[in-house]
Amino acid sequence: MDKLSSEKAIELENKYGAHNYHPLPVVLHRGQGVHVWDVEGKKYYDFLSAYSAVNQGHAHPDINFALAEQARNMTLTSRAFHNSSLGIFEEYMHHLFGYDKMLPMNTGAEAVETALKLARRWGYDVKGIPENKAKIIVCDGNFHGRTISIVSFSADPDSYSGFGPFTPGFERIPYNDVEALRIALQDPNVCAFLVEPIQGEAGVYVPADGYLAACKKVCEENNVLFVADEVQTGIARTGKMLACDHENIRPDVVILGKALSGGVLPVSAVLADDEIMMCIKPGEHGSTFGGNPLACKVAIAALDVVQDENLAENAERLGKIFRDKLGSFIEQNDLVLSIRGKGLLNAILINDSEDSSTAWNICMKLRDNGLLAKPTHGNIIRFAPPLVITEQELNECIEIITSTIATFGK
Ligand code: PMP
Repeated sequence: MDKLSSEKAIELENKYGAHNYHPLPVVLHRGQGVHVWDVEGKKYYDFLSAYSAVNQGHAHPDINFALAEQARNMTLTSRAFHNSSLGIFEEYMHHLFGYDKMLPMNTGAEAVETALKLARRWGYDVKGIPENKAKIIVCDGNFHGRTISIVSFSADPDSYSGFGPFTPGFERIPYNDVEALRIALQDPNVCAFLVEPIQGEAGVYVPADGYLAACKKVCEENNVLFVADEVQTGIARTGKMLACDHENIRPDVVILGKALSGGVLPVSAVLADDEIMMCIKPGEHGSTFGGNPLACKVAIAALDVVQDENLAENAERLGKIFRDKLGSFIEQNDLVLSIRGKGLLNAILINDSEDSSTAWNICMKLRDNGLLAKPTHGNIIRFAPPLVITEQELNECIEIITSTIATFGK
């Protein structure tokens, strides 16, 4: 079959697909490492990495090899039976992250739901919260996915409007505010605090140094689980395997997704010790595809790549260069207010209102100049390339970004 033109591909999506996204008008056909190509053959740097799922780069040969090899053998058994890959993956995760057990799911939202269920069950069975009284504390500006329960505690009207009635049992407090957490935890029915170590979707909002460690301590003092959603920040993105590692804290529950598979297929997981994980008994939670042999083999290969290629160190080193160089540029430029981030999860804040189209227009121009990024909100642009990017490639990208922004007047 002939390849579609960009125009035709977009037309088909518009006509036959739900309009639940507003993509940048570019139709991608192929990816390799830090690069993607559109259907007309134009080459771009990928500066979104599928929302930090493709940390290992597109079409990584080792991950693709694991995928093909396992696909030839077996892809899915369901959990009605054991399979010969799951235990190996679980043991691998135990050694890598140091938790007693993991529970495999597929998407990030499913893993978040799993963590919420685990936390509530722990609250009843271990903490002794009265039936149906468990409360989970979350943060303003959170993004944890799109299910009914998750959007029930979102502060973003785009996420929740028109989707009620909502799931009760959540309380939102300001992000980056330890005192607010301390007050919220005075309620003895709180079982967990769910937090993103850096708020990715909110616009790469980095809390103050020490915030996560202080929250962890307050949780410990109040016998409340500290649940870290590392779906976007995890797997080396911020310069450490987990973003919580920057503050040397060990969450009670860790939620992983996205780059756990290198973006090859949906693989997510929840990590916890026995006291928490063993609260869920056979038949009480699961997913047909969760823990499938294909996912297990792909995830092991994806995590091997992260370690073998020192992607955390690369993200840490190149992230500093990125923020330094863009920072110096911004000092001379009135259109960009600031740059923030950790490792290779960064964003610039445009000096314009949230409902302006400036960030979108900059992303369109970046696209024309061979670099793909997407605004999060009207005035923030996230920059998150695959972590396999080299210093030379990064410098080329900094040149594209600064010269593009320089053409926009303020
Ligand atoms: N948690 C966080 C922190 C996320 O950034 C996302 C996705 N952007 C999710 C959960 C949801 O993941 P998924 O889209 O795979 O359901």
